[in-house]
Amino acid sequence: MNLTLFQLNDVHGYLNLHQEVFYGPTGPEYRRCGGYARIASLLSALREAYPESLLFDGGDTFHGTRPVVATQGDILPDILNELGIAAMTAHWDFAYGPAHLKTLTDRLNYPLLAANVFHLDTGALAYAPTQLFEVAGLRVGVVGLACPIVDKTMSAHFSTGLRFTDGAAELPGHVQRLRTEERADIIILLSHCGFPQDVALLEGCPSIDVCLSSHTHNRLYTPFVAGGALVIQSGSHGSFLGRLTLTIEEGQVTGHNHELHEISEDIVPDAALQARIDAALGPFVNLREVVGVTATALHRGTSVECPADDFLLASLRAVVPADLYFSNGWRYGAPIVPGPVQLQSRKSQGQPLASRVCARPAPGPGRNLHGRFHHLAGRAAPVWPQPPENRPARRGGHARVSEAAPPSGGAPARHVYRRISRFAPVSSLRT
Ligand SMILES: [Zn+2]
Repeated sequence: MNLTLFQLNDVHGYLNLHQEVFYGPTGPEYRRCGGYARIASLLSALREAYPESLLFDGGDTFHGTRPVVATQGDILPDILNELGIAAMTAHWDFAYGPAHLKTLTDRLNYPLLAANVFHLDTGALAYAPTQLFEVAGLRVGVVGLACPIVDKTMSAHFSTGLRFTDGAAELPGHVQRLRTEERADIIILLSHCGFPQDVALLEGCPSIDVCLSSHTHNRLYTPFVAGGALVIQSGSHGSFLGRLTLTIEEGQVTGHNHELHEISEDIVPDAALQARIDAALGPFVNLREVVGVTATALHRGTSVECPADDFLLASLRAVVPADLYFSNGWRYGAPIVPGPVQLQSRKSQGQPLASRVCARPAPGPGRNLHGRFHHLAGRAAPVWPQPPENRPARRGGHARVSEAAPPSGGAPARHVYRRISRFAPVSSLRT
């Protein structure tokens, strides 16, 4: 028999059609895609072709664009309930606190699964860790893992009363229980740990068939294999729907077929769902106000250097004197294309949350910058100027405070940022 898994992940509140960046042969290209009403239409067609199917949402669902943040996600459950989602897990969904997340998930017609989130006071699991689904006689066991960083690098109110683990200790026990007590034929890991973290988890727990990975916004056009499991991740912003069709014989996956479907503009949106979305967004019509114009496209589609981060850093440079300026490369937000800039684009890409700008003294002479900025994840960070006699020299191929131009020196922020990214291994600049 065939079992088809559909995947949404990291939609980040993009309810409607929006610009997206693609990587063409000559550089970035832009076109409109996405929106839950188009996703619903595509799902409807695909479910006719693949009737034995389950749809999962990897989380980062209740936070992102301005209308979703302004309503603390309250406009979403009625829309999400129309999609036929089987289960979700979570990350930024905790942004309004666990108590508010409960009011959202109580309105969903599917569960939030997390085997790695515990109450601090009792040690008990805060969410159902697993769920068993039966599809045409096939028993499908699903383990959920929420993003482990919620109580570590994010604001304290995200995790009030909760403790998050990386899931490595809990995962094997749940997989074993699903296989033996629940007699699951197929095991799926629904994870918001991030792609590299998922690969490590799968290599340490090799009896999982499929991992639906999220968080790192990877567009996997072909599945990755780790620990014997097929791993897919389907981009972000609802610009894509992942489809993985498994051929299963006697409880074993003997083949697969995968497609990363772009939610293209030419998909006819589901009329009823579009009407519901339009009504939800009605109070936010002011976000269409034009607040500026850009001659170049602004995107945050790459981790190390991208035009939107250059713009952010140049803006910081205009108001805060410093030698070095950093921002977190996180492949986030729909791009802004050349032309008029609407308030909703700026709110959603450049200012999805109330960010702090941190200014810190640079490390002393010869001190390595590696690992010194992890506490700044998600924030932009100028470094206070140092007296010239304290400025260390650059050494080797590592990122060090170097001859970066002083604020009055005329070098644009992007030049400083490029300089740093050239000196440092890419991995050292990711947070
Ligand atoms: Zn995430």
